[in-house]
Amino acid sequence: MPSTAAPASSTEMPAVAWHARTADQALEAWQTDATAGLEFDESRRRLEQYGPNTIPEARRRGPFVRAIAQFNNPLILVLLVAGTVTGVLQHHLDSAVIFGVVVINAIIGYVQEGKAENALDAVRAMLASHATVVREGSRHRVESGELVPGDIVLLEAGDRVAVDLRLLREHGLRVDESALTGESMPVEKDIGPAPVDASIGDRTCMAYSGTLVVHGQARGVVIATGAGTEVGQIGAMVSETTSLATPLTTRIDQFARQITGFILIVGALAFAFAWGVGGHSVLEAFLVVVGLGVAAIPEGLPAIITIVLAIGTRAMAGERAIVRRLPAVETLGSVTVICSDKTGTLTRNEMTVVRVLLPESELTCSGVGYAPDGGLADAHGAVDPSECPVLLRLATAGLLCNDAVLHHGDDDSWSVVGDPTEGALVTLAMKAGLERHEVAADFPRVDHVPFESENRFMATLHHDHRGHSFMVLKGAPERVLAMCGLAGNDEWHDRIVRAAAEGERVLALATAEVGPETDSLDLEHLPRFDLIGMVGLLDPPRPEAVAAVAECQAAGITVKMITGDHGATAEAIGRELGLQSEGVLTGDAIEAMDDESLRAAVDENDVIGRASPEHKMRLMAALQARGHYVAMTGDGVNDAPALKAADIGVAMGHRGTDAAREASDLVLTDDNFATIASAVKQGRVVFDNIKKSLLFILPTNGGEAGLILVALLLARTMPVTVGQILWVNMVTAVTLALALAFEPPEPGVMRQSPRAPTEPLITRPLGIRIAYVSFVMALITLAAFEWELSRGGSIEVARTTAVNVLVFAEILYLFNVRHFTASALNRRAFTGNRVALVVTGVLIALQVAFTYAPPLQKVFASEALGWASWAVIIGLAIAKFLAVEAEKALWRRRGVRRM
Ligand code: ATP
Repeated sequence: MPSTAAPASSTEMPAVAWHARTADQALEAWQTDATAGLEFDESRRRLEQYGPNTIPEARRRGPFVRAIAQFNNPLILVLLVAGTVTGVLQHHLDSAVIFGVVVINAIIGYVQEGKAENALDAVRAMLASHATVVREGSRHRVESGELVPGDIVLLEAGDRVAVDLRLLREHGLRVDESALTGESMPVEKDIGPAPVDASIGDRTCMAYSGTLVVHGQARGVVIATGAGTEVGQIGAMVSETTSLATPLTTRIDQFARQITGFILIVGALAFAFAWGVGGHSVLEAFLVVVGLGVAAIPEGLPAIITIVLAIGTRAMAGERAIVRRLPAVETLGSVTVICSDKTGTLTRNEMTVVRVLLPESELTCSGVGYAPDGGLADAHGAVDPSECPVLLRLATAGLLCNDAVLHHGDDDSWSVVGDPTEGALVTLAMKAGLERHEVAADFPRVDHVPFESENRFMATLHHDHRGHSFMVLKGAPERVLAMCGLAGNDEWHDRIVRAAAEGERVLALATAEVGPETDSLDLEHLPRFDLIGMVGLLDPPRPEAVAAVAECQAAGITVKMITGDHGATAEAIGRELGLQSEGVLTGDAIEAMDDESLRAAVDENDVIGRASPEHKMRLMAALQARGHYVAMTGDGVNDAPALKAADIGVAMGHRGTDAAREASDLVLTDDNFATIASAVKQGRVVFDNIKKSLLFILPTNGGEAGLILVALLLARTMPVTVGQILWVNMVTAVTLALALAFEPPEPGVMRQSPRAPTEPLITRPLGIRIAYVSFVMALITLAAFEWELSRGGSIEVARTTAVNVLVFAEILYLFNVRHFTASALNRRAFTGNRVALVVTGVLIALQVAFTYAPPLQKVFASEALGWASWAVIIGLAIAKFLAVEAEKALWRRRGVRRM
């Protein structure tokens, strides 16, 4: 047995069967103290010695696989075939251009995908997990990476264990070890040593890194970190796969496949026509088909969609909403109901005792926040706490049955570590003149049952050094009254409802004498308690939440508040928040309802009080059965199932447990309801911008394909070559379409109803717009081409003019597309997106090079143009811009605001 397991020099953690040792042996080996923990200096030294507590991540797809994957796309495959066949047919220039485009496209896709993945990684890194550790006698929240062997770590329900721990103390600890052992049933823990040869699943005195606490609390000493932990030794932790695929990208892939099929059919028909009817040779006919395919294939689309999603994710992270699963970005915009917790999300989570209810009197308590400034008063004026024994008893009970700690900052600010409800009781005790350490020394705690939302109470067991033992109980008043045998007491009931109707959270405090031999708290055999009194705590709504609720309502989203608080408290706070609710639905009422009546009730009530996590599940099922698309918030381990079942599960970054975060799609780093509203808005913007990208890219392809088909049917010379088409597609996709990813929100985006999740990708207005614009585009290009020929221009000049018409019409079309139907005939439409202006400049430069630079002239068979040609190009582009504006005006008249 090692007397000191931590040799000062080694960086290896000793391989000791800690599960077979006692807790004291583990403490001694790591030279630490169960109550005080390590000293800061020592923890720093050990961090240097053993390194940070991190596990190397599983390897991702390598660069080679990622590069190859860029070609795994039906659109690109068709191009590859076309390039190969043109090569075999000795059309080396066309073949080279096609391959060039495929390669450029792959490079762009590769780079953009890499950027998107990095952006997502950066966003995820903001979710570093934390742990509660005891150092130099007090608790601290530190990043899990900073934990060192010998640290004393506290665990509670919902924590993902970050290190390997030898347990020192535990309270109803149950741990889900499936990540490590595959066993799905949670394991009950205790602190006695296990046999040396026990398998990991049977080492009940240990808590292993990567496992999840589902119940209870514990304290343990770190015996291994990072690669020294059991998971670290197995190899890398199976990290969540970062997939860039979302339902939308899947739909777009499907769409691309459909287009490809369609192109192949039209291509076959065109080939037959050109060869059979048009009298072209097989080679010529084939080149026409290649041109058609190349024209119609939107090869830039997949990359654009990915980048729009990634930019949206980054924008959300900038607004404190972190997307854990990419599909959430696009589905957020479809949310019809947001179910939010009250405490801390809609309210500030800064509890202050404002009222003290004693059996014979009622006091008000002044002061705000956790600062002990302020005092107590009754109807006759200020009350001296030292002359009010029952108040002192209440304040003492509130201090004993309490795990929160107040910190007094250097700037005279007061903050709480632990439960704010309990923090408020510490402040109350200070206002009553009590000293915490004296009270704790007079009545040491022997055992306790922590607060759990299901129980709605907390209890502690103490003795007083004089042979007496007693319990203190604090909790929701109905629970406490029942445990005091006062269940039906009307007077207390009225007093509770009066306080709750002012929006106060009411807590009752009670005590019970127990036999001196009692050394543990048994929930099954609790004694009868004596009520001491109650307190009313106020936790005001966040002002920004009030505004956000109004914004959501205007956007056609119903906000529902689900809280564990009393129905009357919930109703009062709901009113302050502007929730539209006739009455309150309570957990008891939910329990009495069958699924059908619940479905009706859930539509009528926006305020749900005294609800537990199970009720959340039923509410969600009822809402989804009504066809709603639900975002649901949660923070506890019991909320995880509801978060998973929700269409968008939202977890709290600060207050939330690891369990809730891991079950969620979205994490709010500021725990604030207003952030959900801004994420929904951002989600709508992302979806709009994806639609706008489709709206922009598809008519380009449609127009070009139309152009070729018309020329073929009319038996005219092709107005553009294959290489030229590819040029147009590339330069517009990488410049103009990209600008749409940065498009700011449409005005009024939060004054429209949510999009139905079942809405097809190409809606009717969108389809009509694409067809119309394709038609106009083909028309003006053909017109310009014929005009150049008719005035004696060479075929090269005519084609150069046609290409420029296509590109300049695209440039102006970008400004059409910035708004679905709102007019672009104003200055803001041209100046509102800086990226659009920059890419326009770039594109004009590219077109000048295309027209005048000899190397490009050589590759693309283009020729210099004169002023008359430019006048016609600009004129036609403007005409098309106005034609689209006219079409938009028609949609506006019909009340259509988006497509
Ligand atoms: P919300 O859903 O609004 O965030 P919640 O569901 O977290 O609130 P709980 O914390 O479960 O609400 O509180 C439910 C009730 O339990 C409270 O109304 C209060 O009476 C009681 N309670 C809350 N905190 C404590 C505590 N620390 N000790 C004892 N009782 C508590």
